Amino acid sequence: MDKVMLITGASRGIGAATARLAAQHGYRLLLNYRSQAAQAAALVAELGASGATAHAVQADITDEAEVMRLFAELDRHYGRLDVLVNNAGMLEPQMRLEQMDAARWQRVLATNVIGSFLCCREAVRRLSSRHGGTGGAIVNVSSMAARLGAPNEYIDYAAAKGAVDSLTTGLAREVASEGIRVNAVRPGLIDTDIHAAGGEPGRIERLRGSVPLQRGGTPEEVAEAILWLASEQASYCTGSFIDISGGR
Ligand code: NAP
Repeated sequence: MDKVMLITGASRGIGAATARLAAQHGYRLLLNYRSQAAQAAALVAELGASGATAHAVQADITDEAEVMRLFAELDRHYGRLDVLVNNAGMLEPQMRLEQMDAARWQRVLATNVIGSFLCCREAVRRLSSRHGGTGGAIVNVSSMAARLGAPNEYIDYAAAKGAVDSLTTGLAREVASEGIRVNAVRPGLIDTDIHAAGGEPGRIERLRGSVPLQRGGTPEEVAEAILWLASEQASYCTGSFIDISGGR
């Protein structure tokens, strides 16, 4: 396969697991990260050692100029795009809404919403038949928080992921006739660093009893759904959401 996949936030967690699975599926990869250069370089080396083609590009997706540079690197390395996985995301320490300030909301919306929008825009400019492209797929990484609201933890993050859901629905309908499918996954409690960023590394252990399947999920379990939505096996899916949350 000569298909090219760009994954944002691929240095660790769900993004890195998606990169490993995509490499097994034969994709050539452009792996974005924000700050963890050593982890991104180690992943590129690991994938290269197994015969895959991967390049890492540092870029903060909240910054329009950096997103433009990221996609310019994509053009330079591969000259094509088939799949964008809009995975980069973040949250801030758990607190109630009345403790939050506007700056926090702006940071959370900047990464999770504006960053996703910017990457979608650049992907559409390359994939859409309106712009001479041959089509492709976008998979947005939302969250079950969009539906559950994350009370007492991070309503700002939940609201941002709600916006990602609306972005997915709207863009799917806007570009469906131009060869682009746009879908999303909504992970639940997945074992990554993100919970420590929220101030509670043991969050999954605390909440696992509320999950019908009685456990947290792995990044690899999310990656399977992302790869399926990206693939031709999902050719009749657009504007669709897969909840990967153990029934929660
Ligand atoms: P993670 O382990 O904290 O990894 C986050 C990734 O995003 C890292 O690669 C990070 O880069 C990158 N990133 C963050 N801000 C960025 C920015 N401004 N520009 C570019 N890259 C940026 O998180 P994760 O759990 O794998 O999360 C991946 C996605 O799944 C996120 O969208 C998250 O909201 C979503 N999600 C996760 C869970 C869960 O339980 N883990 C549940 C629902 C949804 P650096 O390493 O360079 O900092």
